[in-house]
Amino acid sequence: MTMKTCSYCGKEYSDEFSICGVDQHPLVAANGLVRPRHHAMKKPVKIAIIVLVLFLELVWLAWPRLYMHGIVLDEPYRNAERKAALYANHNEKTPETKAAYDAEIKLLDNHMAKRELGYLVVMLAIDTVGFYCFWRYASIKTIT
Ligand SMILES: [Zn+2]
Repeated sequence: MTMKTCSYCGKEYSDEFSICGVDQHPLVAANGLVRPRHHAMKKPVKIAIIVLVLFLELVWLAWPRLYMHGIVLDEPYRNAERKAALYANHNEKTPETKAAYDAEIKLLDNHMAKRELGYLVVMLAIDTVGFYCFWRYASIKTIT
């Protein structure tokens, strides 16, 4: 007589049963080996991982902003114009040089915002697919 074991709790049943009486999980054919059971990742763990990934992505996105001084000098967009305005304002502070520099900073800000929005759209698209696959994969109860 062949035996079956519960795919969830491992309880043994004779062949005529197909559902575990304890937890209602399907029974699988026992092959006589002792098999460790791996439970699916718990829901709060999955949510915690997704939240962590989202948080890291936002930090990565906001990173250049945290070094605003670095962007002013390093960002290639209108770099020469911005530096010229910065040094002009530094050497001779007049309302005109300040206005010119502020205008450059505003252009830089708009440029960064557009780029961040682009990154955000791409990132959310990847996240949607990634999290969906992760959620499904992490839900599979594997028996090795
Ligand atoms: Zn069971």
